[in-house]
Amino acid sequence: MPQGLTGFRFCPACGAQTLMADSSKSMRCRACGFRYFHNVAVAVSLLLQVGGDLLLTRRAHAPAQGLLDFPGGFVDPDENLEQALIRELREELDLDLDAGALSYRFSGYNRYLFADVTYLTADAFFGLELPERPALRCADDVAAVEWHPLAAVPRAELAFPIVAEAVLRLREFPR
Ligand SMILES: [Zn+2]
Repeated sequence: MPQGLTGFRFCPACGAQTLMADSSKSMRCRACGFRYFHNVAVAVSLLLQVGGDLLLTRRAHAPAQGLLDFPGGFVDPDENLEQALIRELREELDLDLDAGALSYRFSGYNRYLFADVTYLTADAFFGLELPERPALRCADDVAAVEWHPLAAVPRAELAFPIVAEAVLRLREFPR
């Protein structure tokens, strides 16, 4: 069974209970031949630093509600990575950034369980340094923002392994 699709049994094309694993990431209907590929979902995050402090957000909703994450989210259809990140920052923090200010840093992968489906994600991280903390207004998926010294990010409160991995990589190469 493809990772994340353990609850899927009925074929969405013919309705028969004949959906079966076709590969590690696809399913096929034995009755009508319908195929579904559970492709990777792309997510983008911002690593915003001001004077050695790193911006983290408290997640307002499941999964990992109340834990620390980076601002960002999933890429929508017909968006590039920068457009997706700029949209998410506007939605979550009322922060307006120019795509030219963002510099790509590194990527990773994650498992994101939402409504009984596990999405396998590819996560792209962009970096930005500002001279002072911008005014932010939390909305959407963000309950609050916190600034932590890069060397003292509370590891036990991080939402996902990929967040901890990004903090470690940032400590090694802060810019
Ligand atoms: Zn079918």
